[in-house]
Amino acid sequence: MSSVSDDPNEPDAENGDDEEQVSALDRRSLSEIHQEIRDTYTADDRPWVIGYSGGKDSTTALQLIWYAIKDLPDEEQTKPIYVISSDTLVETPKIVDHITSTLENVNEYAEKQDLPFEAHKVYPDVSDSFFVNLIGRGYPAPNQTFRWCTDRLKIDPADNFIVDKVSEHGEVIVILGARKAESKTREQVMNLHSIDGTVLSRHSKFANAFVYTPIEDWLVDDVWDYLMQVDCPWGKDNRDLAALYQEADDECPMVIDTSTPSCGDSRFGCWTCTVVEEDKAMENMIDAGDGWMEPLLEFRDLLKTTQDPKKKSTFRELKGRRFGRVKEKNNGGTGIIPRAYKFEFRQDLLRKLLETEKKVNELRNEDQEYLELIRDAELKEIRRIWRQEEADWEDSVPRIYNEVMGEDLDWAQDDLGAFTAEEAEVLNEVCNRHDVPPKLVKRLLNLEREHHGMKRRAAIYNKIDAIFREEWGTVEEMVAGIEGEEPENWEYDADIEALMK
Ligand code: SF4
Repeated sequence: MSSVSDDPNEPDAENGDDEEQVSALDRRSLSEIHQEIRDTYTADDRPWVIGYSGGKDSTTALQLIWYAIKDLPDEEQTKPIYVISSDTLVETPKIVDHITSTLENVNEYAEKQDLPFEAHKVYPDVSDSFFVNLIGRGYPAPNQTFRWCTDRLKIDPADNFIVDKVSEHGEVIVILGARKAESKTREQVMNLHSIDGTVLSRHSKFANAFVYTPIEDWLVDDVWDYLMQVDCPWGKDNRDLAALYQEADDECPMVIDTSTPSCGDSRFGCWTCTVVEEDKAMENMIDAGDGWMEPLLEFRDLLKTTQDPKKKSTFRELKGRRFGRVKEKNNGGTGIIPRAYKFEFRQDLLRKLLETEKKVNELRNEDQEYLELIRDAELKEIRRIWRQEEADWEDSVPRIYNEVMGEDLDWAQDDLGAFTAEEAEVLNEVCNRHDVPPKLVKRLLNLEREHHGMKRRAAIYNKIDAIFREEWGTVEEMVAGIEGEEPENWEYDADIEALMK
């Protein structure tokens, strides 16, 4: 990935290489590049899949291919060229608009000009979405060392598309707008996978996929020179793209395999991204007049706050999700490894997210479409996870949704919904009287319900055993004996409103 200065025509100090770099366009003319593209396209019947991020590099690659293929006789335009773009569902809204309208134009112009391009957006599965993981399962906001999002939100959806096309056609060629000048690491990875005597390289993951990088030798100046001099063939204006760069000051690449630079280093990715220290892109957009984005920035900054090492014990669980055990730091550290976000905090986060959605839409102009920050399917999945894993008898998702949005969704009644808030209240009272953790009893009752009526009940005993093996003591008991721990640090007493000021 590259970073550019405010002026898109300014040279970019992207790879820090001291050697003088020679423009690719000085070495090869555009017509030679078009010819290479045509030769590669007509050499076999493997379909092409172009990874399009909406940024300058993938726009350049797509534009070059468009012009090259347009000049082929109709009878040689035989194989499909799929243009795919990952929508993480938490993309910065202005970037989504840019990508969506580009893909629509690509399809419209391809049909009008009878070209073999076909544009698609690819999305993460509901269960893999950002908010289902963050709020539903309590994954902490991603950082450099725990960047759980890129695979789930970007790589897997693109991989699924590639695998689907491989099963349909046998093999595919993936086109990326990657450039060696982006970084030394990028150059090394690209060289590692190259295949001698061909412009193709091996895909780092799939044996039946190959990669073609038509602008691999281009410098950032080549890219902007080209985009400023050659009109966009699908009816867009490349100057609008340059303007978007001036606001965002960077781009998130189309992450299609693990050799692609991390989008987490970029400032042009998801609006929720906490891998970067500050979201310069959103700040610039707000400064440039998009004040309605301010609540989004506040929500992102709230997530960032939870990464403060001093605040981790406020927001994070002591016990791990899978085995319910407390784990001590190793590798010389002292204290406890903080786990998933606490359930109470996740409930607060859901409320805050819905309030953010409301506020953003109140601030947007009347001619702007309603901006949905979390989809109904995600809310339903979060509800399912909470009811199952957190024994959420109070059924907090519909309650919080109703309190904030003033309406109800079409909530399905599931088996787990058999226990109610009233029953939870009675159970809490009885458990407190007898000094038994209410969640332990709820989990056991949920388990019994799940297995109710089953002929074979052997599995339930192992599951009961696993529940009892979890840590059910008080915070003091759980942290006792762990060096460097202060028991009171682990209570949840966050005032989210105060944190956001
Ligand atoms: S932009 Fe940030 S949040 Fe989005 S996938 Fe990349 S690293 Fe994750």
